[in-house]
Amino acid sequence: MDYLVQQSMLVYENRLATFAGWPYTEKENMTCTAEKLASSGFYRPSPESEPELACCFMCLKDLEGWEPDDIPDEEHKSHSPACPYIQLKIRNRDEMHVYDYVKMHYQQYIILCKKQSEKLVAELKKKHSAFREELSEVCS
Ligand SMILES: [Zn+2]
Repeated sequence: MDYLVQQSMLVYENRLATFAGWPYTEKENMTCTAEKLASSGFYRPSPESEPELACCFMCLKDLEGWEPDDIPDEEHKSHSPACPYIQLKIRNRDEMHVYDYVKMHYQQYIILCKKQSEKLVAELKKKHSAFREELSEVCS
């Protein structure tokens, strides 16, 4: 995920826009609405190719298989209890203290760096393993 795109997902309205056409609405008492998903920190990274996939802008947790009666905050807490965003008491940017908003940016950046580092390490381990296999074939 591009950092600038992810950073834009700090804004509720940007996350909500990714849920255009989301099938569950407040009609018929559905709780898994686009508004509640966006409020819980979720956005859809690729609505066309993976319409059911929602990702948290902060902890980068991917969740799919949403049911109409799912409660996004509860699902978020259940699958990613350490997420700094889901632990916030005030999530509305306009009501946040500047310190909390800057801290949220900082935490998001740290989590993104950590995830990208883990991805790079996994790729390097895979390449290392392939290289060792190739080397053992050459040496045997
Ligand atoms: Zn999260």
